[in-house]
Amino acid sequence: MREKINEFKKLSWKIRSCKKCELWKTRTHALPGEGNIFSKLMIIAQAPGHTEDREGRMFVGPSGKKLNVLFEKAGISREKVFMTNLLKCVLPHNRKPRPEEIETCAPYLDREMDLVDPAIIATLGYFPARYVFKKFGIEDELDFPRVCGEVFSVGAKRIVPLGHPATLLYRGSLEGKMVENYRTLRRLLDSV
Ligand code: SF4
Repeated sequence: MREKINEFKKLSWKIRSCKKCELWKTRTHALPGEGNIFSKLMIIAQAPGHTEDREGRMFVGPSGKKLNVLFEKAGISREKVFMTNLLKCVLPHNRKPRPEEIETCAPYLDREMDLVDPAIIATLGYFPARYVFKKFGIEDELDFPRVCGEVFSVGAKRIVPLGHPATLLYRGSLEGKMVENYRTLRRLLDSV
């Protein structure tokens, strides 16, 4: 237990001081994952938003508020979840991540996945889903609308690609469907 905590501290320090790709120049904070490092559920989003970059915390901006609502309605305690991003630095002007940025930054996510070793991985949005699907050999070409909300099994792990809660900021009508997705996560959590 102590060893795992120390490994996370080392990893967090590396991420916070990282300058391995150009994104360090436009960030305020690089964000390591945060939450319960012993959790059975890991949530992987794309990259910190602007509020998160400014405050140095995961999911504290408008999309974080939507995520809190989804957790609450599904009966999931945020304190019990580990949350992280595919890219640890904010993307300027909310642009898409570039392949070389993903390739450079993803080893940090890989290390977080190794350390937490979650039974359930939920990805938020297209790019994290594509990365995790390739990593676990599920699909090379991701048809995101088709797989969104489905549960995929890889050995003992369950992988669930979901839409990003930020979608609810402009399409509130999707909330009911998203709550159902998070209830699925809750059922999976109860079963592991
Ligand atoms: Fe380092 Fe990742 Fe930030 Fe690039 S995005 S500077 S690789 S932490």
